[in-house]
Order: sequence, then structure tokens, then C-alpha cells
Amino acid sequence: MTTYDYDLFVIGAGSGGVRAGRIAAKHGAKVAVAEEYRVGGTCVIRGCVPKKLLVYASKFAEDFEDAVGFGWTSEKVSFDWATLIENKDKEIDRLNKAYIRNLEGAGAELILERAVLEDRHTVRLASGRKVTAKYILIATGATPFVPRHLPGHQLAITSNEAFHLEKLPSRIVIVGGGYIAVEFAGIFSGLGVETVLLYRGEQILRGFDDDLRNHLAAEMIKKGVELRTETDVTRIDRSGDGVRVTLEGGAAFGAGQIMFATGRIPNVAGLGLEAAGVELTPHHAVKVDDYSRSSVDNIYAVGDVTNRANLTPVAIREGHAFADTVFGGRPTKVDHSLIPTAVFSQPEIGTVGLTEEEARRQVKAVDIYKTSFRPMKNTVSGRDERTLMKLVVDGETDRVLGCHICGPDAGEMAQLLGISLRLGATKADFDATMAVHPTAAEELVTLRDKWQPGR
Ligand code: FAD
Repeated sequence: MTTYDYDLFVIGAGSGGVRAGRIAAKHGAKVAVAEEYRVGGTCVIRGCVPKKLLVYASKFAEDFEDAVGFGWTSEKVSFDWATLIENKDKEIDRLNKAYIRNLEGAGAELILERAVLEDRHTVRLASGRKVTAKYILIATGATPFVPRHLPGHQLAITSNEAFHLEKLPSRIVIVGGGYIAVEFAGIFSGLGVETVLLYRGEQILRGFDDDLRNHLAAEMIKKGVELRTETDVTRIDRSGDGVRVTLEGGAAFGAGQIMFATGRIPNVAGLGLEAAGVELTPHHAVKVDDYSRSSVDNIYAVGDVTNRANLTPVAIREGHAFADTVFGGRPTKVDHSLIPTAVFSQPEIGTVGLTEEEARRQVKAVDIYKTSFRPMKNTVSGRDERTLMKLVVDGETDRVLGCHICGPDAGEMAQLLGISLRLGATKADFDATMAVHPTAAEELVTLRDKWQPGR
């Protein structure tokens, strides 16, 4: 019988890899996990966590303004980017250490080196050492896509660098229309940076419900973000301390910084997947079955590298299911339907289920319930910002198919709505639920009138 150095070798200590390694070790497997940058991966080191800390920081500007209507006066407030970054980094270091402790505490061996496949059972480390494993898990995540054909693309940063800027520019151009672009536009704008968001599509947040997209775009513009859609950058040149950005059609303008948030691509380059015979999808993600198994039966892949639903909780769930399937004697599939998500834009988005457009394609009759209102806090503060709430209902079965919110705490609401939709809640169930008063969420259970087009 062939013997291997490890039962499982995990490449990548991010959300998916850490969970898989930890659970496999708890199931009794001999596990090694390789990481080339920092344990914790994108989410902890340069994704969800630091991003949300920056979102918190950027919201204080409005909180100070709003406080005045409630009777508060304060001395002149000021903001220091260096303090924020230092404190953010301390928290990231704490989390990084906690991840290392959890992994090693479970009995997994951590190898802080880049690892690539040599063949289906052999991994080559950056140091040149080779190790063998019965099973290999690819959990290498994704990396920002940079349009390298663009002259001057080297002058742009991505979200990776945005977390470590030495100082805030006075003006930034963010290219992209996805959730990362929108979130960073809110962060920079809230921190007082003149922010231009450039997107080549018709409207930001493709794939989200159209009402949400339009509502958020309008609110961002009100907050001072300069939103330019249906345009693209054709070149970037250095100009003084900053850059000069040229657009299609020839218009050009200056900015202190330009950031690409133009999507992310699976981290497969140079991984040796071809050598091992691992097939990729047309989008260069690792092709896997429902159990996260690749085309090679002892090699699995989880998380962003498989490009299924690129979110931390999904990577974690896939990593856990993999460990239970292969080492826990419990074959487990991950259900990728009805994933609740948030966009930490300003105002925030929380959403679960089908958009109106998707529902119209999938069921015969769709009923829409929606409301746009001024949240209670804004009455006294005088802030001109509205909340949007929308329910997409199957007109034949009364089942709520989708729920979309843009407003404060929308992400928190989406988490709980996710449970309701998973349980198959109908509009009648929403109506029968007692309201919590006074909250914004009570609107969700008091929406009585179907939306009539043209109203
Ligand atoms: P990752 O967490 O990316 O981990 C992969 C790890 O593998 C990395 O640490 C990498 O260094 C390592 N690696 C790669 N190649 C090798 C190699 N050859 N050898 C050794 N190590 C290697 N998701 C949410 O759910 N909510 C959010 O609010 C959210 N915000 C985000 C904000 C930003 C700016 C970004 C970029 C992402 C955000 N995400 C968010 C997405 C989330 O971070 C990812 O979905 C998640 O981290 C995927 O986990 P993963 O395990 O697949 O990969």
C-alpha cells in the first residue's frame, strides 16, 4: 500500500482552507496547510474584515452631522488615516494569530510557504521540499483582475493596496461597478476624498435587483460620489504626485489615485494544475462536482478558486463539507441556493433570493411589494436619505421569492430574512408576523398593497 506524508495537504490558509484543515484534523487526519502570504486569507487580511472596519470609520462623518439635530454640539472634529490603519492592522494581527492558534490547536501543521502541485499526490514547496499527500485541497482563493492591456495600468492600485495607503488622496477614481467598487467609493467619499466611480455598464451592481441598483446609485450621488456609467478608461499617465486618467472619447482629468475594482480571478496561475490533470472551467476556475471534487479524484477545491459563490461563509461551508465528506464519513453537498448577502455600501444593501427580473423569468405571475421611506432617525437629523424595501412574491403560490433592502442595517435584516425564505415563508406569513415597533424592519411585515406599475 502506498504511504503518504500526509492524509491531506491544503494549499491556501484562507476561509475555506483553514476550515477544511481544522475539521479534517479533528476527524483524525494528518493535515498540513500551506500559506504563501498570511493565515486568514483574503477575508481576514484584505477583504471583509478590514473593509468593514473602514466602512465604520467612514460613517462617523455623517454621525457627527446627524448628532447636531439631536442637540449635540461638538468641537471641531478631525480624522487621522494613519491612526485608523494602525488600529485596523492591530485587529488584523490579532485575528491572524487566532487563526494560527485554531489551526495548530486542531493538530494541523502550518507551512508558511507557497505550494504548487507536482503531480496528483505531490506538492512542491517554495523551499524546494517535496511532500506527498493522499488528498490535496486547492483553496487558493482569487486575486484582483487588472486590465493589463491598458497603458499605465501599473499606476493603479487594487483593493489589496487600498488597505495600506500611506495617505488619503484628495481625489480618487475607482473603476468598476461591483460590490467592492461601490463599497470603496463609500469608504473614500465618507472619509472626505472626492470620489469618482467609473463603470462601463449601464448601472452599478449588475446582477442585483434593478430597483436596488437605481436606489443605491441615487443615494450615492446625493452623498457626493461622482458616478459616471457607460464609460471606460483608455489610458493612465503619471501627473505630478498623482495620475491623469483618459476616458473613451478623449476626456481626461487628474486624480491623486486610481483604483481598479474590476473583478477577481481564480488563483490558479502557476499552481501546476495541468501537471496533475486538474480541469478548469471556461472562466479558469477549478471545475468541481457537488462534493467539491475536481476532475482528479483525490484533488478537491473549495472557495473562490472554484468561482461558485465568492463569499466567505460559502468558502467556509464548502471547506467543512469537504472535510466531513472525505474524513468524517458523512458525504455532504453544499446548497448554494438562497444565499443572503450584504453590500456594505452607503446606504447598505441586504438581499436574499430572486431579483424581480429573475422571478419574472422563472414563474408565471410575480407580485411586487415595495416601499421607499425616510427612516425615523433622518426626520430629526434632517438627512436626505431614503430606505428601499422590496418583496418579490410568487403570485400563484404566495411564496416570497426575494427580499431586497437598501438602508441602514440591511445586512443584519438579510441574515434573518434568509431563514424565512429558506423555510418557504409566504407573503401571508409575513403579514401574520407581528411588527417590531418602531423599527425600519417592521415595514417588511406591513406591506399591504401590491405595486402597480406607473404608480
Ligand atoms: P482566500 O480567503 O482568498 O484564501 C486563499 C489563500 O490562499 C490566501 O491566503 C492566499 O495567500 C493563499 N494562496 C494562494 N495561492 C497559494 C499557494 N500557491 N501556496 C500557498 N498559499 C497560497 N466576502 C463576504 O462574504 N463578505 C464580505 O463583506 C466580503 N468583502 C470582501 C471585500 C474585499 C475587498 C474582497 C477582496 C473580498 C471580500 N469578500 C467578502 C470575499 C471573501 O474574502 C472571499 O470570498 C473569501 O476570502 C474566499 O475564501 P477562500 O478560502 O476561497 O480564499
